[in-house]
Amino acid sequence: STPASYIGRFAPSPTGALHAGSLVAAMASLLDARARQGTWLLRIEDLDTPRVVPDSDRQIMAQLTALGMHWDGDVVYQSTRDAAYQAAFDQLIAAGHIYGCACTRKEIADSLMSSRGALPVGELPYPGTCRHGLPAGRSARAWRLRVPDGVHCFNDRWVGEQCQDVAREVGDFVLRRADGLWAYQLAVVVDDAWQGITDIVRGADLLGSTARQRVLQELLGLPLPQMMHVPVVTNELGQKLSKQTGATALDLDNPLRTLQNAWSALGFSPLPAQNLPDFWTSATRQWAQRFVPAHGQSAL
Ligand code: GLU
Repeated sequence: STPASYIGRFAPSPTGALHAGSLVAAMASLLDARARQGTWLLRIEDLDTPRVVPDSDRQIMAQLTALGMHWDGDVVYQSTRDAAYQAAFDQLIAAGHIYGCACTRKEIADSLMSSRGALPVGELPYPGTCRHGLPAGRSARAWRLRVPDGVHCFNDRWVGEQCQDVAREVGDFVLRRADGLWAYQLAVVVDDAWQGITDIVRGADLLGSTARQRVLQELLGLPLPQMMHVPVVTNELGQKLSKQTGATALDLDNPLRTLQNAWSALGFSPLPAQNLPDFWTSATRQWAQRFVPAHGQSAL
């Protein structure tokens, strides 16, 4: 039997040009697709309009091209996909999985403070205040998913088995934000399914979102892609590289060195490549040897 054909994707948010950290995720997803003779799609996640930096989508594409990273097919922009997100949202509403929420961030923080005595660090789990109806006189600001009880586990190809009790650790999460925008979690699962993505390779900063996405995929009856979360590059202070933590622009005057740096961030030793095509050929071969189990064996 022939294995289902591989479709992967790189899905940057156009909040600025790629930096050393986002390049590592792009490289891993491209190598995995090429090592599996698959398709590699580019999707621009431009839904969070307040954070979008004009023209950074063009910059990202120019950077990828300069590094010899060629995507397949047309680029998809999430800003053109409103009807699809609305349809998924309507499907969840019709099945009773969504409710309106009147709470402000401050109210959520206050309620957690009084029940736990301390504010948790990082993302706040939603305590379910509006789950059984809006408080009198209040109207819905955001729309949340009624998360079913239970632990969600998946086997990540890089980090192994991961489990999360989404209802307890995250709570009912937002699908449509108070500012009217679709939440990343909804858009990403709708698009991954629509584009037929079989394998998601991305940075480990999104590991904590995966269980939420699987809850949504199950409720929407969508396929569950294979997952691989690659290490996130940090600066000397251990912070994830981002514009906020002062990541510098990629050096495109020396594309080979830029690629070699991303390659070592993935844990490999430098490749003896003299040019970009050489680099990609040897990198793909090594990636396949390490991560594609049937590599080198006959498929017959
Ligand atoms: N757009 C997301 C980001 O740039 C990535 C989404 C994904 O790979 O699932 O962080």
